[in-house]
Amino acid sequence: MKTIGLLGGMSWESTELYYRLINEETRRIRGGLHSAPIAMVSVDFQEIERLQHDDGWDSAAEVLAESARRVESAGADFLLICTNTMHRVADTIAAAIDIPLLHLADATANEIRAAGIRTVGLLGTRFTMEQDFYTGRLEKHGLRVVVPPQEDRDIVHRVIYEELCLGTVNAASRDEFLRIIAELVTTGAEAVIEGCTEIGLLVKPEHTDVTLFDTTAIHARHAVFRALGENGLN
Ligand code: GLU
Repeated sequence: MKTIGLLGGMSWESTELYYRLINEETRRIRGGLHSAPIAMVSVDFQEIERLQHDDGWDSAAEVLAESARRVESAGADFLLICTNTMHRVADTIAAAIDIPLLHLADATANEIRAAGIRTVGLLGTRFTMEQDFYTGRLEKHGLRVVVPPQEDRDIVHRVIYEELCLGTVNAASRDEFLRIIAELVTTGAEAVIEGCTEIGLLVKPEHTDVTLFDTTAIHARHAVFRALGENGLN
């Protein structure tokens, strides 16, 4: 099995999920005491979050590119950036390393297409919902992407940074997310992408009849498939 590289800490609340999901999937497939070879660098999210909100994307890209090089040096065969938002600088990170990047939006789009869905709602940070690096990437896969109106994007963004990234799961916020998800469906979404790696902490499939695509679970599962290879024997 190949070594999975994780660029984590954004936030660590979701990186913890990646670690668990990757190992659970590896045990499910390989059985016994098998677990996944993982090389991880976990950054200080306070610094990254400040750069995001100060429009310091180039500086954030430098920090993450340096961290990605350390993941590669630690023996990773390929890299996952464990956050949707920081895929904004995915090209810079990919250019800094010699191992491939397993892009979160590509993995997600492939699962959605395989499910026969064409119009999908998107929840994430304002950066993810509003900027072309993410919605444009999904659209290149032939998807139509719908996002909530401005005031609801603000609610989702606030809950991500002020609650979920701090490990706070709030029932009132869940109700708000469920309302927003239901409204995305009324505007044509056939399913909704949980396009922030912490949203799965708040809204789970048992909370709604709407089909959810949890990017953390998808990314983790694709990482294991890639590490095992087509026939599971790598
Ligand atoms: N983990 C979140 C995401 O998937 C938000 C934290 C961040 O800004 O990186 O976008």
